Amino acid sequence: MPKSNYTNQIYLDYASGAPVDPRVLKVMNEVGKHEFANPSAIHELGVRAKKILERARGYIAKILGAHANEIIFTSGATESNNLAILGVGAPHIVTTNIEHASVLEVCKYLEKTKKAQITYVEVEKNGIVDPKKIKKAIKKNTVLVSVMYANNEIGTIQPIREIAKEIRHFNKINSKKILFHTDATQAINYLPVNVEKLGVDLLSFNGAKIYGPKGVGVLFKKRNLSLAPITHGGDQEFGFRPGTENLLAIAGLAEAFKITEALKEKESKRLVKLRDYFIKKIKDIDSEVILNGDKIERLPNNVNISIPKIPSELLVLELSARGIMISARSACKSLDRAESHVIKAIRPTSKIEGSVRFSIGRETTKTNLDYVSKSLFEILTKLKRWYN
Ligand code: PMP
Repeated sequence: MPKSNYTNQIYLDYASGAPVDPRVLKVMNEVGKHEFANPSAIHELGVRAKKILERARGYIAKILGAHANEIIFTSGATESNNLAILGVGAPHIVTTNIEHASVLEVCKYLEKTKKAQITYVEVEKNGIVDPKKIKKAIKKNTVLVSVMYANNEIGTIQPIREIAKEIRHFNKINSKKILFHTDATQAINYLPVNVEKLGVDLLSFNGAKIYGPKGVGVLFKKRNLSLAPITHGGDQEFGFRPGTENLLAIAGLAEAFKITEALKEKESKRLVKLRDYFIKKIKDIDSEVILNGDKIERLPNNVNISIPKIPSELLVLELSARGIMISARSACKSLDRAESHVIKAIRPTSKIEGSVRFSIGRETTKTNLDYVSKSLFEILTKLKRWYN
């Protein structure tokens, strides 16, 4: 990948937002310069803009193994998740206790307003949900199951195909049509995304994590599945998401998706090696460090650890002072002082406070991680004197 400008910094917060790939910027620049017309306009420039929109939709559909009219553009994964969950209008939803806030808080809202009942299936200690427990949680009035493909904090990969199989089996025996939604935002760079093979009816992701622009997302919605829009006022996006399309961002997202798909296999292998190298280095520095989430079934780019007695925010700031960018919790909840619901879910009785996430990416090298390890050693040596 062509280098970006982060020469003096080591950016290890790719799971919050990846830098925009220069090839994506180039496409956005071209579209931005020439394609300013409204894609709904019927004049020549409008028709041209519409063509770009539909080409982007086609690219994305092809990668997902879907039809173009199953792709809805949104403002990001939060909106895609909201649209999927609110739009289906299920009286009972099954989900897990480690979903992203854009799923969990919609569910909490539906509970509070008595619009739906929710069952939160607890994940196991390794951060992975048991598909059998999902099946067990299904009730007579269940219409939707929503389980994220990979967790944004601890990177654990959920058994989406197995869950889909359980749902299909249940549907067949009971002549039901329970729908399956997955938030694939963190998984999309590294894991297979063919919606047929995954067995999902709805799938969300965004541009931010795939080296594309922020503020743009996709909701895949299987054909013939009825969905109520959550905003009103136009016919765009097949009436599911009214409002003038953000053509610039959509063109960028499609380009980013093509690039990430082409790099997926090679980059995943490279990052797994780097990830495991880094985990070993951290353990060598401090044997008390706890790796949060499953060792194997985790995203190639995720290292989430808890260090007993060391406040995680302090560690983030100490590293930041040395030019190393990591995060203490999900960026969407970074102002929330309470402990992460994900860490609480996998270690309910533990007194260890906080966790930090190193998320590596395309520009991360072994030399970077050696420098981070050295810095971590120095910082921990200093902090342990204060906090022991
Ligand atoms: N789901 C997951 C798993 C995420 O990691 C994020 C981004 N942190 C979102 C949803 C929300 O994405 P957006 O910021 O595009 O709304």
